[in-house]
Amino acid sequence: MIGAGLAGALLGILLRRRGWEVDLYEKRGDPRLRGYEGGRSINLALAERGRHALRAADADEAVMRHAIMMRGRMVHVDAAEPALQRYGRDDSEVIWSVHRGDLNLVLLELAQAAGARLHFDLGLAGVNFDSRVAVFADARDGSRREVPFRALVGADGAGSALRAAMHRVRDLGERSDFLDHGYKELEIPPDDDGGFRIEPHALHIWPRGHYMCIALPNDEKTFTVTLFLPHQAAAGDGPAFDQIRDTAAARTFFEREFPSALALIPAFERDWAANPVGQLGTLYLEHWHLDGRAVLLGDAAHAMVPFHGQGMNCAFEDCVALAGQLDAHPDLAGAFAAFEAQRKPDAAAIQRMALDNYLEMRDRVDDADYLLQRALELALQARHPGRFVPHYAMVTFMRIPYSLAMTRTDVQRGILERATAGRSTLDALDWAAIDADVLARLTPLEDVPA
Ligand SMILES: Cc1cc2nc3c(=O)[nH]c(=O)nc-3n(C[C@H](O)[C@H](O)[C@H](O)COP(=O)(O)OP(=O)(O)OC[C@H]3O[C@@H](n4cnc5c(N)ncnc54)[C@H](O)[C@@H]3O)c2cc1C
Repeated sequence: MIGAGLAGALLGILLRRRGWEVDLYEKRGDPRLRGYEGGRSINLALAERGRHALRAADADEAVMRHAIMMRGRMVHVDAAEPALQRYGRDDSEVIWSVHRGDLNLVLLELAQAAGARLHFDLGLAGVNFDSRVAVFADARDGSRREVPFRALVGADGAGSALRAAMHRVRDLGERSDFLDHGYKELEIPPDDDGGFRIEPHALHIWPRGHYMCIALPNDEKTFTVTLFLPHQAAAGDGPAFDQIRDTAAARTFFEREFPSALALIPAFERDWAANPVGQLGTLYLEHWHLDGRAVLLGDAAHAMVPFHGQGMNCAFEDCVALAGQLDAHPDLAGAFAAFEAQRKPDAAAIQRMALDNYLEMRDRVDDADYLLQRALELALQARHPGRFVPHYAMVTFMRIPYSLAMTRTDVQRGILERATAGRSTLDALDWAAIDADVLARLTPLEDVPA
């Protein structure tokens, strides 16, 4: 397996438990010796799909020791008191913030305990698929190592070296759409008493139309703040990263747009200067495997923008699906093909929903019509339990295929828009007509059994 990040480590556990011989090659150093060199998005939102996969590897309990519950979005607008918009009905419907490094360490330990062999500082540099030999570059001394293999699994992330090697043998039909927005991370440290500076059990959002800041809690009482902003100003419009030329300009920008967030970031200048602007994009791939010799999963197969907090969750679902297809098929080519057929429509669906969610987070969460539709969504959920399930719940608290969640979301959006057109409160709605619309368009929905 190439890459011992999140998906690689989890799949290592799942495959070892099924008796496969697993060698995990990771281009970075061993994080247990050097500390985690994550480089990007320090904490991640973990949802039911990811937790289900962790449970399948008996890793959920160990991971959840590091996790912090997030009940909903805490929306910061102007000078108003921030308000919590719950994600679900109660504390059984929440998401969890977990540090990428903690998660990776837990999974690596479990993979090793399950018998996977871990090889650090070895980055894939080339593959001879005819002779089934992979070439690794040793980051410590620049030497090369040739390793024979039966099959390669690419869990090496969005810039996958295995994908590039496969592409030399078979056109994978690759296309990347880079977002014209990038991101930068900043940190809210603990307060003087060592506690959280703001409400810990929430994902904080400062929505500002074309851009936004978010903050997720960490278990050491810090928050990771992420600013999402256009790279370049379009036709003289601002703001954009290319217009913020130095830390003084960054401070001025934050003083104007995010004063309440800025007040929480004492080392603002240090963070701004130290942390690079990250790129965001969606990777579309027509083929995920090379007969029985190689297969891609996680970001290597379908990187997505992070606005639904599902990239890792989807990658973890991939791991369970691939392990299941390997159980079900006697040959690797058959298993890889079945895995691709199973997961490609779902990856495409969550990629689209993640793009849609950016608009919602940065521009809609404080709109009156959005809040009315959200209130109606909850009312319809109560009136039609198991039939009208809000979009966020289908993606985040359930494990139905993403493609089904997307289809039903489109239908439900139509119902909500028709019902609220020209209205400003729920009182004035024609409930009989709305109920009839729901019953006519939506069948009962059951989750995938555990
Ligand atoms: C800003 C941001 C916020 C995010 N927030 C969330 C969130 O809240 N929730 C969520 O579910 N997802 C989130 N994601 C997405 C999530 O980070 C990814 O989907 C997830 O990390 C994918 O896991 P992976 O194992 O496929 O790839 P990665 O985690 O990228 O792991 C790839 C591994 O392969 C190694 N590697 C790379 N090249 C080589 C090579 N040539 N040889 C050997 N090893 C190699 C890397 O060092 C790394 O360890 C976010 C992403 C970003 C950018």
